[in-house]
Amino acid sequence: MKNTLLIEKAYINGKFITATHKFDVINPSTNKLVGQLPNLSVADCRTAIQAADHAWKSWRKTSIGDRTTIVRKLYEAIRANKNELAEIMTLESGKPLNESLGEVDYGNSFVEWFAEEGKRSYGETIPSLKNGLRLSTIKQGVGVVAAITPWNFPLAMITRKVAPALVAGCTIVLKPASQTPFTAIALAKLAADAGVPDGVFNIITSKDSSEIGKELATNPLVRKITFTGSTKVGQILMEQASSTIKRVSFELGGNAPFIVFDDADIDNAVEGAIAGKFRNAGQTCVSVNRFYVQDTVYETFANKLAFAVSKLKVGDGLEKEVQIGPLINRKGLDKVKEHLADALQKGAKILIGGSQIEGNFFEPTVLSEVAHHSLIAEEETFGPICALFRFKTEEEAIRLANNTPFGLAAYFYSDNIHRCHRIAEQIESGMVGINVGLISNAGAPFGGIKQSGIGREGSKYGLDEYLEIKYLCFGN
Ligand code: ADP
Repeated sequence: MKNTLLIEKAYINGKFITATHKFDVINPSTNKLVGQLPNLSVADCRTAIQAADHAWKSWRKTSIGDRTTIVRKLYEAIRANKNELAEIMTLESGKPLNESLGEVDYGNSFVEWFAEEGKRSYGETIPSLKNGLRLSTIKQGVGVVAAITPWNFPLAMITRKVAPALVAGCTIVLKPASQTPFTAIALAKLAADAGVPDGVFNIITSKDSSEIGKELATNPLVRKITFTGSTKVGQILMEQASSTIKRVSFELGGNAPFIVFDDADIDNAVEGAIAGKFRNAGQTCVSVNRFYVQDTVYETFANKLAFAVSKLKVGDGLEKEVQIGPLINRKGLDKVKEHLADALQKGAKILIGGSQIEGNFFEPTVLSEVAHHSLIAEEETFGPICALFRFKTEEEAIRLANNTPFGLAAYFYSDNIHRCHRIAEQIESGMVGINVGLISNAGAPFGGIKQSGIGREGSKYGLDEYLEIKYLCFGN
């Protein structure tokens, strides 16, 4: 049956549009064409920004009740179209269908959360230090928001930006990743059906990310830019956004440590390691990148992990029971191979896996005795490789875990409550999983410190990212 949400058009000012120049979207599992989309120009991007600016004039005046009702309808529409959305996501990203179905729920949990939280954008009354003045604050939407999103979560990385922006009364121009734009277009269709007015949510499809990104980051009509992707691109966008002092929020790269202490429940740690490492074939910004395992439990953990990894099923995401899909493209695969070769050259040993299967598929791999100065310890691998490092003391574990310019997620396992508090407080990261490998939750603040980002998504803080505080001073 045809998937009616797979629409080969961009979306500007309430219209699905086409263009003579198109680009291909390729299924990374089969290397077959998923479809073609308009390769829009900077001029088209400007048109979308102007449409968003125009729409903002009326959208900002709608009531919070009306906006949250529309966003709630969007939530219902996503639920009703869960299978269609998941299929599109698997076709364009390669992730196993079960994960795509999970991502629809996860992505939609932000829509539900903000449909509720939008009602609570409270201002304050403030005691005045002088007689005769009454002080208060109100919160208002920042205005036109530009959003640039990556391919690893084609829906969730969009909904956690778009849902709070909508309820805050902002309008949006979104540039989804050119690898996975169809999920975004499907979302626009559902948003239009849910009653999001023309011009409030616009999607620019383009292969030319840097030109479109520059326009979004420098156009004076755009008040805020929100981006999820690499630290390198985040740096470019921040510099460009400085020309008009835009507000920014960035979710950037990570280099997550996963520490296993000698007092940990090892089976629990192995389960958490599989969940934290192999979701989306290791292609998430919170994927575990460095496993630090205490000397005395090192062999036990390594052997149990290798055994669990040997059970993982790799294949086309549309096939039943597949747990690991392909890498997103050749570039992603090459990075994994480069990290592996470097680790081996510096003395690492392969416990399981270690080879490309075919096409963009790579075997789930466990490496032991990895040297601390390996590339895999310094950069995100974004692939299905577990790199195991050894440590002796708690101080050493903390020092190694924090020895990175990144600070997004960190995980550790220990059954000692005092140690848990000590480590949680000393780890330099925005999020810490304690005896758990999956931490994302719409009600919790997601975000990084150091070069992993600015701002938070999800939670009440994720709404504040789209609101300005206006201070009102009433005289007599
Ligand atoms: P990844 O390596 O995960 O693809 P990127 O940061 O390169 O991470 O890409 C994330 C998003 O940023 C994608 O939508 C991509 O098209 C876009 N992008 C890439 N380069 C630029 C750029 N110079 N300016 C703006 N956006 C960019």
